[in-house]
Formats: sequence, C-alpha cells, structure tokens
Amino acid sequence: DIQAPVAVALDGDHLPPGSGLPRGFGLPDDSFAHDGQITKRAIRAVTLAALAPRPGEMLWDIGGGSGSVSVEWCLNGGRAICIEPRADRIANIRANIAGFGLEGRMQALHGTAPDALAGLPVPDAIFIGGGADAAPIAALPAARLVVNAVTLETETLLTRLHAERGGRLIRLSVEEAAPLGRSRGWTPARPVTQWSWP
Ligand code: SAH
Repeated sequence: DIQAPVAVALDGDHLPPGSGLPRGFGLPDDSFAHDGQITKRAIRAVTLAALAPRPGEMLWDIGGGSGSVSVEWCLNGGRAICIEPRADRIANIRANIAGFGLEGRMQALHGTAPDALAGLPVPDAIFIGGGADAAPIAALPAARLVVNAVTLETETLLTRLHAERGGRLIRLSVEEAAPLGRSRGWTPARPVTQWSWP
C-alpha cells in the first residue's frame, strides 16, 4: 500500500475566507491605539522585514510608542518587550497587547533606555524607534539590530555606524494620495533612514 504524502496543515485551512488577521507586515495604522507617533504602515512593513521575526524569538522594541512594531513581531511568532518612557503611550501599548490578544507574549516596560534594559531576557533582535542617541548602541547585547531615524542627528549617528560596522543603510520616502482641494495629491511623509545590522 502506498501512503499518501503527509499534508502540511496550515492553521487557516479550515477557516472561512477572509477570517483571522492577515499574515505579513504593515497592518493599517488605525488597527492600533496610537497618538500619531506610530511607525506608519509602509515603513513598518519594511522595518519588520528587516527585523525578520522567527518563531519564539525575543525582540527589544526601544521607544515602543504604540507598540505596533512589537505587535507585528509577535503576530509573526515572536515575543517582545516594549520599552517606553511615556505613561500615556504605555497605556496605548497595553491596549494593543489586549486588543491583539498578545498577553504573555508581549510586555510593556515603563522606562528609559539604556537604564531600563538591565536584566531583561536576552534579545534575538533589537529595534530602536526612539532614543537612539541615549542608548549607546555599542553597549547593546549581540543581536540583529534595526534603527530608524527621522532626525538629522540620528541619521548622522547611523551614517557613522554604517561606515564603522557595515550592515545596510537605506532611506525610505513614502507618499500617499490625499485630498487636495477637490482633487487628490501626493502627500509626502518625512523620510526615514534605516540602518540594519548585520
Ligand atoms: N515604533 C513606534 C513609534 C516610536 S516613536 C510605533 O510604531 O508606535 C519614538 C518613541 O521613543 C517615543 O514614544 C518616545 O517616547 C520614545 N523614546 C525616546 N527616547 C527614549 C529612550 N531613551 N528610551 C526609550 N524610549 C524612548
């Protein structure tokens, strides 16, 4: 007797079309509780691709903001600690942990890098979306590293790190169609410089 090949069961196999959260990166910004300080969806998608989550991996999300980067990391199998100094944003992060059902995988840590990083579980990847100058990058534990910059000062830091350590330096400019009078026009967001290592 010939055995049928073992089918790979995907967890969506028996769900009606369109149910569940989509796999992949770049959920709409409005899927998250946020105050405007959020890594916008197109930039977030590129950021997650650079962070490259694998099942069970631990992310430190420094400058968590709304926690959107950590949420997408966790939805793709990881665990995350979101470090954020502002209490109002910690509340948004906690709302998003609950909203996406990520209790136990994702944690909001009220504090400032680098002080708040002492004693945390060892990371596989680190994302810095805020406070890149305050967290001396050389002192971070060995992990994949992705840093986004919108200020010239942080961009200058990333340009130097790229020269010293290599990795990949990219600059992302996204424009989105928005109302312009009775027509529509391209509305640019601030360009984001991203350094990823290795
Ligand atoms: N990636 C986030 C947006 C980050 S905005 C999202 O998608 O929602 C940058 C955040 O960095 C801000 O909320 C700011 O409060 C925080 N921040 C600034 N300096 C910091 C530091 N030294 N340690 C931790 N967070 C810091």
